[in-house]
Parts: sequence; structure tokens; C-alpha cells
Amino acid sequence: MYENFWKHKGEETTVVTSGWQHISYFSDINNVCWFLEPGLKSSITRLHKVVGNAVTEGRHIVVGTGSSQLYQAAIYALSPPNAAGPMNVVSAAPFYSSYPLMTDYLKSGLHKWAGDAYKFNKQEPYIELVTSPNNPDGSTRQDVVKGDKGILIHDLAYYWPQYTPILSPADYDIMLFTVSKSTGHAGSRIGWALVKDREIARKMTTFIEINTIGVSKDSQIRAAKILQTISDSCDHANQTHAETFFDYSYKLMAQRWKELREAVNKTELFSLPDFPSERCSFSGRTFGQLPAFAWLKCEGEVDDCEGFLRRNKILTRGGKHFGASMKYVRMSMLSREKEFKILTRRLPAIVS
Ligand code: PMP
Repeated sequence: MYENFWKHKGEETTVVTSGWQHISYFSDINNVCWFLEPGLKSSITRLHKVVGNAVTEGRHIVVGTGSSQLYQAAIYALSPPNAAGPMNVVSAAPFYSSYPLMTDYLKSGLHKWAGDAYKFNKQEPYIELVTSPNNPDGSTRQDVVKGDKGILIHDLAYYWPQYTPILSPADYDIMLFTVSKSTGHAGSRIGWALVKDREIARKMTTFIEINTIGVSKDSQIRAAKILQTISDSCDHANQTHAETFFDYSYKLMAQRWKELREAVNKTELFSLPDFPSERCSFSGRTFGQLPAFAWLKCEGEVDDCEGFLRRNKILTRGGKHFGASMKYVRMSMLSREKEFKILTRRLPAIVS
């Protein structure tokens, strides 16, 4: 979706690597996360400062092969190795569909998926995942289990100013971010965790050490360049009058949501969530969420919204994957322009 922006940047974001470079496993042996490239560390810190979306002071940065690896590293680090039973992992429904899969696919004795956080009432230790803005429904979230035995992981993949007003710098114990959603470079597979506790950062690092002995340096260096370019453009915006990445991506998201809402309003068959407007401290704009996914509901008789849309040549993910009703589906807003246009034409043309 952001491909055109990056095409226009051309040389500015080009990374050239010679055969002799980035050969070693090691990046900075004095750092808790010894495979974190110093250039990536500084560009992450700088970008959070520029955007004002997360506190980085007093935090350890752990880099991962996408935030997916960091999620697994975090639940590994937070689950005691000698506990009587596996640690419960919960998230409020509708939750990101990969969490149950990533938690249970190895049938670990360390942790187990315990479902919807709203329904969790065991007097046992638990990890609660708080995804804000949420995938699939775009809502702003806080933890919902009010027990005293919980540890929180904040997945802030979408806490960027093209998707949501930035209200204040997030200041939680474990925060996950990824270039997949911030800059669009999902294929580089770079995510990072901001971790307050040194011991947890160390255990997360150990997980990645055992899992993949670090994270591709080539990808880290590329990601660093991309993040630097964004920070530079924000810093120089007043002098150059060039559009910053977040201006570009915000306008694109706003335009797509406008078109999607117009398409949905032409029919009685579907509805979309509404979001309150708030002022973004980064851009100064007042707007409601512009989520990366649309959480679409089939109104009326249709009980299997995914099947109904598939029969009408629209591919989505049904509510059951997210711990919710099949009357809902998740639809991507991040496709290329041509596909998105087809979507906004096909939706209002559907007859029940
Ligand atoms: N968390 C959330 C909430 C996501 O939506 C995604 C991507 N769909 C991820 C994590 C995984 O991101 P990555 O590509 O960095 O592994």
C-alpha cells in the first residue's frame, strides 16, 4: 500500500551491501540484545521520539524476526520454567488470530492459550495480550482481566499516526512494534520490543539465540535506513515542504476509509464500527481511528459472513478465527490501490 511512497524516495532509501560486510553473528556484545545492530537501535529510539508514541528511556530494545518472533520470545520469558502447569495466555476477543496458533503450535509445557480475556476467571497466573489499536477491529484497548497475578504484553503494531491519533507516549513494561505496519516493510521481517526489565530482555534474547541465533543483519540495516528516512523527513518537513511518510500514509488511510464507508452505506447488508475523534499529538489533526483492517458485520439473516462474501468474490477472514461471531469478518485495508478499488465496487453491488 505504501509502495508508491517508497518508489518516489528512490536512492535515499537504497542500501548497498558488499560481500565482506555484516558477516559475523555479533553486532554489539556489550548490549543485552547482542545481535541488535547499533544503527537500528538508534533509529528506533529516534523515531519514537519524533512521533511521541512510546517511551524508550530506561528500556532495553530486543530485535526480532518480525514482532511474531518477539511475541514468542516474550511468552517464553514470562512463563516460569518450573511451574506446576503451563502459564495461561489470554487476550480480549476479538483478538489477533495468530496469538492462539503461536502460543500452542509446539504444545509447550510452558504456556497455553486460555482464550478470551473477558471470560478468564481462574485464580492462576496469566499473561494478557493487549493489542492497541486492536487487530481485527481497530479499537483502542486496555487490559481487561483485573487479577493480581497477571503480566501484560502490549502489542502496539498499529500505534502509529496513520492509523490512530497518538495521545501520549506508551509507557508499558513490554511493548511490541514492527516495520510491517509502521512503514509497510513486512517482508524485511523486523520487529522490536521495548522492555523495562533487564532480566526479561535477557530471557527474550536467549529465546531468539536458541531459535535463530539472532536476526538478519541485512534486514536490520535496511530497516534502520527506512526508519531514518522517516525521521529525517519529519524533522525537515518545515524546511522542505515535502510530504512526510506519515502525511502520505494518513491521507491514504483516510481516503480508503472514506471510500469503504461510502461503499458500505450504499447497501443495507453490512455495517462498520464507528470511532470517536481525538486530537493527535504528533500531527495536530483531530480524527477517528483508521484501522489497517475493517471489522465488517453482515446485518440481517446472513450468519456466515465470510462464506457469503466469498460467494461474491471477496476474500476475508471470518470472525471465528478471532474468537468472535461468524457474522463478522476482517477485511484488509492495506492492499494495492487496484485491488482496493475492486473491493469498493464489488461490495455495494452485492444483492442478498
Ligand atoms: N501483531 C499484530 C497485532 C499484527 O496484526 C501483526 C501482523 N498482522 C503482527 C503482530 C505480526 O507482525 P510481524 O510481521 O512483525 O511479525
